[in-house]
Amino acid sequence: MNLKASTSRRNIILISLFGFLILFFTARAFMAAKKKPAETTEPKDMPVSAGMKFGLPLDSFEVVEETIERNEFLSDILSAYNIDNATVLRLAEKAKDVFSVRNLAAGNPYTVFCSKDSSHTARYFIYQPNPVDYVVYDLRDTLNVYKGKRKVTVKTQTLSGVINSSLYETLEKEGADAALAVKLAHIFAWTIDFYGIQKGDWFKILYEQRYIKGEPVEAGSIQSAVFSHKGEQYTAYYFQPDSTREGEYFNEEGKSLRKAFLKAPLKFSRISSRFTLKRFHPVQKRWKAHLGTDYAAPTGTPIIATANGTVIESRYTRFNGNYVKLKHNGTYTTQYLHMSKRAVKVGQHISQGQVIGYVGSTGLATGPHVCYRFWKNGRQVDPLREKFPSAIPVSGENLAAFNQVVDSANKVLKGINIQISENQAK
Ligand SMILES: [Zn+2]
Repeated sequence: MNLKASTSRRNIILISLFGFLILFFTARAFMAAKKKPAETTEPKDMPVSAGMKFGLPLDSFEVVEETIERNEFLSDILSAYNIDNATVLRLAEKAKDVFSVRNLAAGNPYTVFCSKDSSHTARYFIYQPNPVDYVVYDLRDTLNVYKGKRKVTVKTQTLSGVINSSLYETLEKEGADAALAVKLAHIFAWTIDFYGIQKGDWFKILYEQRYIKGEPVEAGSIQSAVFSHKGEQYTAYYFQPDSTREGEYFNEEGKSLRKAFLKAPLKFSRISSRFTLKRFHPVQKRWKAHLGTDYAAPTGTPIIATANGTVIESRYTRFNGNYVKLKHNGTYTTQYLHMSKRAVKVGQHISQGQVIGYVGSTGLATGPHVCYRFWKNGRQVDPLREKFPSAIPVSGENLAAFNQVVDSANKVLKGINIQISENQAK
């Protein structure tokens, strides 16, 4: 990677990121952030195809740029440019398989290339469903419809920030680059409890920013990141070991950042009742769904968390008895019922394998067991039938290539100075 330093003013991205993190992950911790000069993998001056847009010569037409309004149809727009309804209907027919005119959505931009004479007859109508793609409706003699893509330049940039309280209002005002914040949270979802982000935490990231004609469009993927949480540094490097595996994030030692769930919430376990949509309930004496897996074990056997997470419930109810519910990330939640004793409190951050309670028969249970329940995206599923992240480390012949990725990323990341003032550190 050939990284050259250049000056930049991408404060908005960074500020937005913080605004987003604050709003979503913590109500009280505020952040200050600093954008470092952009690093670039390409020459700074991008070739501009002068006088061309959407592959059409600008100086041959009168060009009108507008935004589609609510309840505005193509026929409404084009009638102002000398195109009759019959033509629009024929065009709509031709467009069906390329990009239906019914999909033109309010709020998106369009451009009309019309004749320079006094009739202002539309020659081309261009619709942009997003900043990259466009659809050309060629209105000349034989109507034609085709799609195109604008030229996207990708630059590798850095971003850093410290959790603070002083810039909160400024950050909030700037809006949010949600995509980048979500990506960062996603990368560390198994490692860091983002609900527990606190003052003094900081991060540095190396990411791809996409540009069209020098204007930033969507933030691309994060290549590497360091996140310091409660004084501990967590690293992430994107790497694809080989073509048979999908690329993913690994820490500096090459361990996958995604963690698989433990097979069971007990070290030595025996399944006494499996997840089923219909079973005869031994206590209630009737057929009903059993949306959990029961593991029988003697009272007092330690129950362990099957993955890192945060305690979102720890209490007693008549049916569940003593139970604990863990939220692992945006996707997975687990619950452990009928404990004789609970060992954790709501809000506590739990590591995979940590003891959260002890087997018992509180609530609706015939004998000592733990009923293990599993949610994926809010739906109860059978964890024994789920495919989880692989969590295979980088190894063998891939290590050299991986270390190269780590080294070049670290050169950049370590060059970013994080300044934590006295009052920012907790
Ligand atoms: Zn059960």
